[in-house]
Amino acid sequence: MATNPITLELPDCRPETEFTRAEARRLFPSERIRRVLLVAPPDAPAEAFNYATAKRGRYWNFPPYGLGVMATLLRDVGITVRIVNLNHEALKACQASASPDVFHFDDAWKCQLRQAVDEMEPDIVGVTCMFTMTHPSAVRVCQELARLRPDLTIAFGGVHVTNCFMSRETCLPVLEDLAGVKLFFLFEADLAFMNFVNWVNDDTTAPELSQLLVNLPGRRYLFRTISRPGEKELNVIPAHDLMGTAHVSRHGVIGSFFCFLSQGTRSGTVNANRGCRGLCTYCSVRNFNGPGVRHRSAESVVDELELLRDRHGVRHVMWLDDDLLHDTRRCLELFAAMIERKLGMTWDCSNGVVASSCTEEIVSQAAASGCVGLNIGIESGNPIVLKKIRKPGGIKTFMMAAKVLRRHPEINTRGFLMIGFPDETYGMIQDTFRLAQDMGLDWYNITILQPLPNTPIFADMMQSGLIDDLDVWNIRYNSGPYGKRRTQMQDRRVDTRDLSPFAPERSGDVPSRQELDSVWFHLNFHLNFERLFAVTHPEKLRQQYLYVKNICDLVAPDDPFPNYFLGWLQYRRTGRVDAAVADKVEQLLCDVPAWQPKFDRFSLSVQDLRRATFPVPVALSPTRSAST
Ligand code: SF4
Repeated sequence: MATNPITLELPDCRPETEFTRAEARRLFPSERIRRVLLVAPPDAPAEAFNYATAKRGRYWNFPPYGLGVMATLLRDVGITVRIVNLNHEALKACQASASPDVFHFDDAWKCQLRQAVDEMEPDIVGVTCMFTMTHPSAVRVCQELARLRPDLTIAFGGVHVTNCFMSRETCLPVLEDLAGVKLFFLFEADLAFMNFVNWVNDDTTAPELSQLLVNLPGRRYLFRTISRPGEKELNVIPAHDLMGTAHVSRHGVIGSFFCFLSQGTRSGTVNANRGCRGLCTYCSVRNFNGPGVRHRSAESVVDELELLRDRHGVRHVMWLDDDLLHDTRRCLELFAAMIERKLGMTWDCSNGVVASSCTEEIVSQAAASGCVGLNIGIESGNPIVLKKIRKPGGIKTFMMAAKVLRRHPEINTRGFLMIGFPDETYGMIQDTFRLAQDMGLDWYNITILQPLPNTPIFADMMQSGLIDDLDVWNIRYNSGPYGKRRTQMQDRRVDTRDLSPFAPERSGDVPSRQELDSVWFHLNFHLNFERLFAVTHPEKLRQQYLYVKNICDLVAPDDPFPNYFLGWLQYRRTGRVDAAVADKVEQLLCDVPAWQPKFDRFSLSVQDLRRATFPVPVALSPTRSAST
């Protein structure tokens, strides 16, 4: 399936017809590709790595799913494949170490990389880079490979590099950083990489090269056509045996709902379809995967789930899909097949689902097939913003989805909210705040817009001068273990004088970047923590207790807010607060005096925990409000 070609213009490009099979073969020592090493770099570089966070097991540790799919396709044509997941190796080494003094992040992954190269003697190494944040780490992996084997051909691919290749401004710095990389495979590369390998190895194969930049000294060949993987590639079960799927969740977390799993539960990931029906201007999914959604057969998905359970001991999966619920008939067929095969597994959709698909029919089958948690993409509660960002769904759709989900308390429901869109005023953000309150989901993941390359909003903001920093690989997640939000909370940069963002006189103003931090703090407190005062449903109390405990233990142990609310939830569940919780809150407030004004601002006190008397706002009083 070939679609819209790449339009990028690069220096030193020659007509691609001049790239011959003979020239390609000279890239490989035996002039053929027989052994392929696939490498997933550490998620972030050493300077972003925090030893204590890794020791707590808080970092993400996903099996390299895309590399696994590629490995299966390669093995099917007789190629020897090995996958080395350097993120996993670094986390494993950290957790096995006795102290930070004896742990060296770079040594940990370099040692595993060297071992894999020495043992395998690959003809080619494929390095993936999914996230912009991983860029510096992926660059170092390529540099290390070049140091170990200067003649080794490195192929590079993934979402990040594809996004950067959409404009000269973002592409040229990447090419400079990755000067030693000879092959760049763009977009979903399963088919393109396979076609390349087959063409190199087999004289009878026609040159079907696509979405590929051959980057040789003084000359480049850019194959602009895009071949999207079709049904055959989609139905491939990735090589979980090479991906280390059975072990990843021992050293890190997968998805956002792991706190609901019993200790020791093995988690994995699975992908049912690729692409998304949406056109959201801040999202690169459509540009990467192409328009629409391509489905995998329900049978193939359920076969993979069964294999994960039986051969790898996996009992919980996170869907990697961006639009899992697309196509009601297909979706119901998938859930029915999962129920029929009695998988006995649970699942979550951390990546988010489209609200309009959250009908009673789908949600009840989702629950019956093992759903324990899902995120809904909402972003804004203001109709003008929703229209501008082309969000699929409006206020009515979001409210209807919330109504359906309230009927299924066994599913933990969360919403993605985003603030900081161009020209978004305080008043518009207040609409988001009100919608979130009205929807009453269990939690909201609130982020400040971080425009990504290869998205319409990035292009618009570049054009209007709102982005002037092209240091794109310094982009970090808003939230999560490497997130900026967490660092900012630790740095205590939020100004408590600015924690009443919705004063009427400011309604038409657009908050500055710095003011957005305070708005974020306000939203996070009122939408997430303060609403805990109103929870009465026993199942929701259980979920919120586990989630807040997880924040205290794993995510933000030094933050007194979740620790305070852990005390409240203990009180709601058992009628008492552990003295240890009150002691910890007192200690945290004492350790970092910057927290106390924030506590005062929201009328919280350690004495509430000691006396078990809480400042529950009247509107949220459990005796007055409906259960959430
Ligand atoms: S619905 Fe989600 S995945 Fe789809 S385009 Fe919008 S943000 Fe991207």
